[in-house]
This record gives sequence, C-alpha cells and structure tokens, in this order.
Amino acid sequence: MPKYVYDFTEGNKDLKDLLGGKGANLAEMTNIGLPVPPGFTITAEACRHYLGHGGMPEGLEEEIGGHLAALEERMGKRLGQADDPLLVSVRSGAKFSMPGMMETVLNVGLNDDSVLGLAKQSGNDRFAWDSYRRLIQMFGKTVLDIDGELFEHAMDDLKGEREDTDLDAADLQRLVETFKGIVRERTGRDFPADPREQMDLAVKAVFDSWNAPRAILYRRQERIPADLGTAVNVVAMVFGNMGPDSGTGVAFTRDPGSGRQGVYGDYLRNAQGEDVVAGIRNTVPLQELETINPEAYRRLLDIMATLERHYRDLCDIEFTIERGRLWMLQTRVGKRTAAAAFCIATQLVDEGLIDMDEAVTRVTGDQLAQLMFPRFAATAGNHRLTTGMNASPGAAAGRAVFSSERAVELAGRGEAVILVRRETNPDDLAGMIAAHGVLTSRGGKTSHAAVVARGMGKTCVCGAEELEVDPHARRFTAPGGVVVDEGDVISIDGGTGAVYLGEVPVTASPVAEYFEGEPAGDELVRAVDRIMTHADSVRRLAVRANADTPEDAARARRYGAQGIGLCRTEHMFLGERRRLVEDLILATTPEERQAALDALEPLQTGDFTGIFEAMRGLPVTIRLIDPPLHEFLPDLTDLAVKVALADDRAADRADGRTGGGADDRDRRLLDAVKRLHEQNPMLGLRGVRLGLTVPGLFAMQVRAIAAAARRVEGACAEIMIPLVGAVQELEIVKEEAERILAEAGVEAAIGTMIEVPRAALTAGQIAEAAEFFSFGTNDLTQMMWGFSRDDVESAFFGTYLDLGVFGVSPFESVDREGVGRLMRIAVEEGRRTRPDLKLGICGEHGGDPDSVHFCHEIGLDYVSCSPFRIPVARLEAGRAALTCAQSDTR
Ligand code: PEP
Ligand code: MG
Repeated sequence: MPKYVYDFTEGNKDLKDLLGGKGANLAEMTNIGLPVPPGFTITAEACRHYLGHGGMPEGLEEEIGGHLAALEERMGKRLGQADDPLLVSVRSGAKFSMPGMMETVLNVGLNDDSVLGLAKQSGNDRFAWDSYRRLIQMFGKTVLDIDGELFEHAMDDLKGEREDTDLDAADLQRLVETFKGIVRERTGRDFPADPREQMDLAVKAVFDSWNAPRAILYRRQERIPADLGTAVNVVAMVFGNMGPDSGTGVAFTRDPGSGRQGVYGDYLRNAQGEDVVAGIRNTVPLQELETINPEAYRRLLDIMATLERHYRDLCDIEFTIERGRLWMLQTRVGKRTAAAAFCIATQLVDEGLIDMDEAVTRVTGDQLAQLMFPRFAATAGNHRLTTGMNASPGAAAGRAVFSSERAVELAGRGEAVILVRRETNPDDLAGMIAAHGVLTSRGGKTSHAAVVARGMGKTCVCGAEELEVDPHARRFTAPGGVVVDEGDVISIDGGTGAVYLGEVPVTASPVAEYFEGEPAGDELVRAVDRIMTHADSVRRLAVRANADTPEDAARARRYGAQGIGLCRTEHMFLGERRRLVEDLILATTPEERQAALDALEPLQTGDFTGIFEAMRGLPVTIRLIDPPLHEFLPDLTDLAVKVALADDRAADRADGRTGGGADDRDRRLLDAVKRLHEQNPMLGLRGVRLGLTVPGLFAMQVRAIAAAARRVEGACAEIMIPLVGAVQELEIVKEEAERILAEAGVEAAIGTMIEVPRAALTAGQIAEAAEFFSFGTNDLTQMMWGFSRDDVESAFFGTYLDLGVFGVSPFESVDREGVGRLMRIAVEEGRRTRPDLKLGICGEHGGDPDSVHFCHEIGLDYVSCSPFRIPVARLEAGRAALTCAQSDTR
C-alpha cells in the first residue's frame, strides 16, 4: 500500500508531485530549522484515488489517525480537547500554485466544549468565540455546501451599524448559535461536534474542491493538467488574531514587479491569514512591522535571507505572529512579472547563486513574449484620473465594466474591456480572463487581483484608493468628481499604476526595440540581452522565420532568424496579379497558358529577388504554390449574380431598352469557378497536386527562383514541395525542377513538407527524393485528427477543452502522442534513408514553447515561426538544450 501521509519532517521541496507545493515547502522549511507549526500532508495520490474511486483509499483513515496522534503528542494536547484544544487548519496545496481556487478550513477542532477551553487558555473570550463562528461559517460554506451569504447576512443583521471588530464575546456567542441554526436548517443535522469528524469532512471537501468550477477554469487558463489532484495539509493552528501583538502578513524576498532587492510585503495586525490575501482590510507596508515588533521583524528578515540562499531564487512567504512569536505558514518560489524574472535571473548570477545556464532556465518564452508587448506612448496630455499600484505590467485600454459577467459578455462581442472592481475574488476569474486589464480600488500587490493578473500576464493596477467604485451603479468616481460609467473607455498602465480617461495610444516596448537593433539600455534590456546571448550559445536548434515579403524577412533577420523556413508564395498571386492567374486558368491552348505564365514569371523573379537580398547569405526555403487555384477566382455567388444581372439587362435590351450583357470573360470565369469547385478544398486540388496537373506552373516558379538566385550574390535557395503524400509525386516535380536549375546553373536543395500522414509513414521512401523535410504541422494536425483547421477551433474546441479531451488545442501545441508520433517516425525513417537529411518544422507550432522543446527532443535541425516569435523560439531552444540534454536523439 502506498504511503499516503507524510509528516512535515519527512518531506522535502522536491516532492511537489506528491505533497503539492505548499506541503513540500512546509517540509523543506521544517527541515532547515525554520519555525513552522507542526503538521502533516496527505498526498495528491490519495486525492486522485478519492476522486477516481469516489472514496478514501483503504487504510488512509488509520494512517491519518497515526499522524494525528503523533501531532497531538508533540503539541501536548488533543484535537478539540475540552480544556486546552489542539486546533488545526486543513489546507489545499496542489503541485502548481492555484491561488484561492481551492478550499481551506481553519480552526478545526472547536465545539461547544473546546471553545471554552480555548477561551480559558487564551484568556480571551472574544477571540475564542470569533474563532468558533469562523469555523462554522467556513465549514458550513466549504464542507456542507451552504450558501455563504446566509452566514454573512446573519452577521450583518447582528452588526447593524457596527464594524466586525465592535462585536464582543457575547455577540459572537449569539452568532455561533445562529450559525448552528443555519447549519441545522440547511443540512438537517447538527454542526458536527466531533473534532475528528470535522477534520475528515474538511479533508474530503478540500479534495472535492479540486473540481470546483473556478479551479477547473484556472487550470485551463494556466494549462495545469486536470488529473493531478491536490494534497491536503493539516497544520497546527497558530493565531494572528490574538490581539495587537499578533498579526499576519505576506512578503517577497525581492520586488516581484521589478526584481529589486528590499522589503516587499504587507502586514495586517490582529488578523488571520486569509484576510490579507483577500484584500478585504487594508494592510500596512511590511516595513512598519519594524516599529510594531522589532524582534519579529528582524527574525523575519533573517528567515527571508535564509530562504533566498536556500532556494536560490525569489521566494514569497506567508507568516503569522502569535503574541509576538513568528511562524512561517508557507513559502514558495514566488511568482513574478516577466521583467522581474529576467532581472532576478541575472542578479542571481551576479550574486554567485546560479550560473548562466540556470539563468536561461529561469525565464520562459512566454515571459519574453509579454515583454515585447507595447506600452503607452507619451501619456502627457491625457487625463490622468488617479495612480494606483503597478501590480502587473503592460498597457491596456478598453471599456470599463464592473462585473465579471459583463466583462465576459462584452469581450465575447469583440470589445476590449477593463474589469473595474473594489477588489477581486476567485469568482471574478472568468472576467479577468476576458478583460484586457484589471483595475481595483483596494488591496495591495499581494491581493487576489494582483497575484492572479501577474500570473496571467495581464495588465493590472490595484489599490487605486482614490476611486470610489460602485459596482451596483456600474460606475466609479475619480478625484474631482469625474464619473466613469460602464462603457466609457479608460486606459491603465500596469508599469506605473496610472489610470487615464479615454484611450491612450500605445508604443513598442524597449525589449521589442532592442530586438529591432537598439542598443541594450536599462537593466531589463541588458538582462534580456545576456540571457538571449547565452541561450543562443547553448541551443542546438536553429531558428528560422516564416516570412514571405522582404520587409518580414528583414525584421526576422533583425530578430535573429537564421534563414527563412517557409516562404509561402500564394500571396504573390493576389491583388493585381489575380487577373494573370485567371488567364492561366482560362487558357484553352498551350500558347495561352504559356503567355499567362510568361507574364507571371518576371513578377515572381522580382518577389524572390527582394527576399534573397534581405536574407543574403542565409537559406531561404521557398514553397511552391499550395492552395487550390479556385481561391484565386471570384466567389461563385458573386460571379453568378453578376452574370445573371448582366444577362437580365441583355434581355431588357432585346425589348428595346438599353443595358450591358455578361461579358465573355465573366461567363468563362463562372464556368471555371463551377468546374474547379470542391466540396473539401483542403483535401482537393492543392499543393503538389497542382504542380502535377497544371502544366508549367511549378516550372515557372522554379525558373523565377533560379533567375532571382543568379541576380543576388549570396542567395541560398531551397525549394519546397507542399502536400506530398507519395515519393512518386515528389520525384516527378523534382526531375523537372532539377532540369531547370541545371539549365540556369543554379544549385538549390529540393525537399518537401511532411504534412500528409502518409508522407510521415513513408518518410523512408520520400527521403530518397527529398534533401530536407519540413513538418507542416498545421495540415498534419488537421489530417491526423480529421479536424478542419479553419472551423473546429471556434466551433467546438471550447467544449472539448471543458470535457478535458485535451488541455490545449493541438493546433497551438504539438499533440505529442498523435502528431508527434508521426513526426518521430518520419525523423527516424527519413534519417535512416538519408543520414544528412535536414529537418525542420514550419507549422504554427514552430513558435510554441512546448513544441520547440518537442522539436529539440526528436532531433530536428530548426524551427521556423513568424518573425515576432523568433526571440521566443531562440530562448526556448536554449532552454530545451539545457533541460532535455539526454533526450536528444542524434
Ligand atoms: C502547415 O500545413 O503546417 C504549413 C506550414 O502550411 P500552410 O499553413 O500554409 O498550409
Ligand atoms: Mg500546409
């Protein structure tokens, strides 16, 4: 039988899969001698069993019993003991942090007897009764599923005009009775008085909360697998609400916004932990603890330094001070903004805590992408309403909305919105996801809004206290009486905390400018430069661009592209040239067809010349035309109507009135459109099939490539044939292309895309004719799954994601098991035939971090992606080389 329960002394920080992040780090802190209240962790494996089988695994109750007994012995008191009760908190804690998404129950062990014992031991009746009412309230809502508002209303009724803190022990005792009545009425049973039963029910409720709707939504957003489950921590209670010499707080070992060292955190006197994160009461800056309790403050700073050295990273912590004594309730390697991630990584290198290899693994491509977001252009001249806290960077403008539902609704209609709240709570998650930015009037940098927005990379300004937010009236009032109603446009600056009326134009980020060639200026840009330089020095994968204009090619090169991996040629047949393509399609004799091709060829030569010039010295993979020809013809309905109307007018003219008839070209075009119409064009006459059935088309393109290559010194052309499924298709095209190249005296590698499953499965044969493969994972995914790439994502992927069929769209990130398997086969069999076969990817996945890692793992030579994703791909290729060193198949 597996071990399901670990005492804090038994675990360590590397056991996150089993103990969750919180449990693993509580164990780690315990073992390095920090003051952690004793406790134990029930593993995520137990949770998985419970959720999978609908019940606790056999033997778990006894195992918990054994650990509880040990805890009681250590504390010298029993759970819920009448004269001096041990109380515990029952806390969720999954492998990945999911702030506020799952449940926690505090003060477990209180009942009508032990509340008196707690009052006596603490010498504080009010505190004891307040703890008891909190337990019934939290337990009622979380474990017994009672609508939380019932408790809140009962409390409001009792308070009248008074504040929470004005309630005395007798009030709270009365409230406990009322709460017990609510429990009885709603559940048909008494609030469970047995402490062990309370604990067991709380554990189950925490397990169940893994599947609460908001937790599911958060996981999907953060791409956290749905089947991990959560561990549960049972921890001896310490109290931050025992009076003015008690309190609770949250702190970071460095500024999670900028990475700067210093004291960053919030402290709340005489309060329990949850009060801080919820942002309900206003906290004081942590520095003030120095005056309130100098000794605890110094101890805290010492512990923070120890944690940074130990974890070699920024840590965030939750702590409680109970009557002057400091306790650590949680630590973890802290979330940080993208900018801070880069700065901290290089600071830690300079402090000798990590090396450059590790620095590269400490940042992600997604963070880099965030840093390339635009910011506000000059903000002077805009009406600044107020300045709040710069909680999560970026710049966002949109219509103010005051509820999560409205945010979702308007965003669904394509509107940019800013979600404005007093404070957010986990129920606002959907609105936060839908909004461009989040603005709150309360709460610090550790409030829910700030933490969640930062994790999402969403712009957030919080604690803008000058704003009076009225969610019911759907408006806020700014200083000077300016009223912003729902629908009015505002702009928020997550870098400075400024809030503006109206839309402020945005400008490029300094990081994007650095990639454009500006010298590395501030600390952030220097950090990015160092990390990118190192990533480039360790990566094995080359990075190319998908670019089909000289401008894109030039930008890609500035961004570090080492060539073009996919130059799509189809856009070169649009616009004014469409008529020439029509001529080609309408040609009825070889002479007419040749004339149309002759007209296109110099234009194509010009196209390729521009691109070769921009990429001089670097390889340029030009893909011959891919889409079905009818895409270049007018729409069937439009044309049919045009012809019909013209014919009508012609009929009118026969009646003696004036009017024009359909011209012959339109009529022939209409015939061609009808002739070429396909039910499934994606599976029809496109790619290599066009080359084989439209004489001269591919040959014209190859001649143009050869001519352009001759014109540009340093041109390095590669010719790529799309949609090949059988080696025979490739051989026919290749023979002709080679002849043309030989006549022109130009050398160019000829290869193919692997985007039809059959090509992947016969890669060994195809490699006889192909000098390179480039995985077209857009089509490969479409054909592997039978998913129409143009339709399914908006049609039903939402449902599929909800149902957990997959955690992320296979069009975004390579489906390793299916499409990935085909790729592995193609790599292996292709290289068996031709050991020097060059391998790349040019589907959209080429710029997706996970897919880049996969491409590294299976031994591709390069990834190719859109110019803006190139820095991301470079960084991720470096990270892949450092993190999956053994899995390189070459
Ligand atoms: C692909 O299919 O992955 C590909 C790159 O080609 P396209 O997207 O042009 O079909
Ligand atoms: Mg394709």
